[in-house]
Amino acid sequence: MRIVLTLMFTCLLQCRSADEIRLEQNAREHYGVDFSRLQTYLSRAPVATAFDFPLCRDGVHGCYDAQPFGVSEHLGEDWNRAGNNKDLGSPVYAIADGVVVFAADIGNGWGKVLRIVHRLPENSPYPYVESLYAHFTQMLPQAGDVVRRGDKIGTLGTAGGIYEAHLHLELRHVIALPVGGGYGSDQTGYLEPKKFIRAHR
Ligand SMILES: [Zn+2]
Repeated sequence: MRIVLTLMFTCLLQCRSADEIRLEQNAREHYGVDFSRLQTYLSRAPVATAFDFPLCRDGVHGCYDAQPFGVSEHLGEDWNRAGNNKDLGSPVYAIADGVVVFAADIGNGWGKVLRIVHRLPENSPYPYVESLYAHFTQMLPQAGDVVRRGDKIGTLGTAGGIYEAHLHLELRHVIALPVGGGYGSDQTGYLEPKKFIRAHR
């Protein structure tokens, strides 16, 4: 009995759920931050009350998704505003208010990758969603920075010359997943960006 009580008391103070333990591991492995740093980041995340598209907030029309989510097992969307590298260097904007949890050049077909966690309003199906942007030429914010919807976060790039310029955009409802491969038949944890943005504008 005493052991049980002791365990219960310890648990009240510091027990973590399986979800929290998994999040701690994932944050360390996939954001490169410990749990206290992650909690600091998340505590800064403003509530994302509205979402918007990542290109063409500057009055330019004709932005398009060249490779939609799910096509050829794509786990993101490939955004352009012109083909043949004519849009190289175009501004890319944060799709919603949030906090940057990762910003680094990881190479490997990804190049410069930015990951932003967005806190959703209460009663949303998930507490957070994460947007992931890849292949930038230039990336502006750093991990820990708070960004607002429509803030310029970088410029369209080629991941170091591997691709024609485009933005690879992913949206996840599970945060701190591995960066992954950009393609895959398992969509667990992923959302279709355009569909989510249209439903939350
Ligand atoms: Zn892509």
